[in-house]
Amino acid sequence: MRTHKIAAIPGDGIGQEVIPAGLAVLRALTERAGDFRLDVTEFPWGSDYYRANGRMMPEDGLDQLKRFDAIYFGAVGDPHLPDDLTLWGLRLAICQGFDQFANIRPTRVLPGLESPLRGLAPGAIDWVIVRENSEGEYAGHGGRAHRGHAIEVATETSIFTRAGVERIMRAAFAIAASRPRKLLTVVTKSNAQRHGMVFWDEVAAKVAEDFPEVRWEKELVDAMAARMVRKPAGIDTVVATNLHADILSDLAGALAGSLGVAPTANLDPTRQYPSMFEPIHGSAFDIMGQGVANPIATFWTACMMLEHLGEGAGARRLMRAIEAATAQGVLTADLGGTARMDDVTEAVIAAIRGDNAPD
Ligand code: NAD
Ligand code: MN
Repeated sequence: MRTHKIAAIPGDGIGQEVIPAGLAVLRALTERAGDFRLDVTEFPWGSDYYRANGRMMPEDGLDQLKRFDAIYFGAVGDPHLPDDLTLWGLRLAICQGFDQFANIRPTRVLPGLESPLRGLAPGAIDWVIVRENSEGEYAGHGGRAHRGHAIEVATETSIFTRAGVERIMRAAFAIAASRPRKLLTVVTKSNAQRHGMVFWDEVAAKVAEDFPEVRWEKELVDAMAARMVRKPAGIDTVVATNLHADILSDLAGALAGSLGVAPTANLDPTRQYPSMFEPIHGSAFDIMGQGVANPIATFWTACMMLEHLGEGAGARRLMRAIEAATAQGVLTADLGGTARMDDVTEAVIAAIRGDNAPD
């Protein structure tokens, strides 16, 4: 039987609720599928680990993770610790250490869910946003001088390398090529940002030569935000920088109904290292411990993980079960429902067990 080794890192807050729910759903799925298994190891890393050990994960954490086929991640963030410490100490340490340069964010309005956009036709939002995940505006370059003085100055420099832009562009064109509409929108701000963003447009044009089947277009990020609201049906695959895609994908998540359903994958497409799969949302201290977190984003990212592991049939079966649960109206409070997390989990598990489709 095919076996995949999974490292599960629930992390903080509702991460400790939604990851166990995701693992329960995956257990039901592997039982139902019968042709593959997941060998799961849980790691208790995060803010509690920090309080006990002075670090978010052990010094050899990345070495421990290297031997896994994928990482299933909850969230980090603790009300009593600085966000940059928790984020850089665990989540970003993994993204950067494993060169997970492609952050993939699918967006769809699931059956039974309502977009805040009025009169949206079913299927009008079916997007994949590809976010550059390793450089750009979040490269951490910059500094401050003359602190506290009238002449104080702070800089925040974006870094774009040819290798970095080319590899994210290739990943985005490949995704666009794999989708029915074969349309890629390259988002920049090349009218105002004349160096890095003009460079993005140039690299896009060059990479496009290798993907003649893909139609591609350029769009400025501000216009793109408006277009996502005004003409969502004309959008398919989108590639943008770390900052631009960060903002656009939160907008996308909201347009799909809630951040609680938005999944993401941090991929190393070269497969040298394990990729990491997580919900987009954070640790949500405001609702932690109440059993009301929406687990759908965590289930959906498990579909992405299965796809990445070559278990396409399992991924489709899980997606059908998620959609069956949402279509039945088993919805948590963020989606206007009254269901608790366990109700959603049980509905998805029941749908998996009752699924008689051939694959
Ligand atoms: P958040 O995503 O945790 O929460 C934002 C709002 O959405 C909250 O009102 C929350 O209750 C709600 N929400 C989020 N996920 C939900 C779910 N699954 N079901 C129902 N409601 C949900 O963002 P925040 O409040 O800005 O940040 C809280 C902490 O999480 C901070 O420490 C932040 O740094 C961290 N954070 C971590 C990640 C990550 O680990 N990838 C991402 C974002 C924020
Ligand atoms: Mn964000």
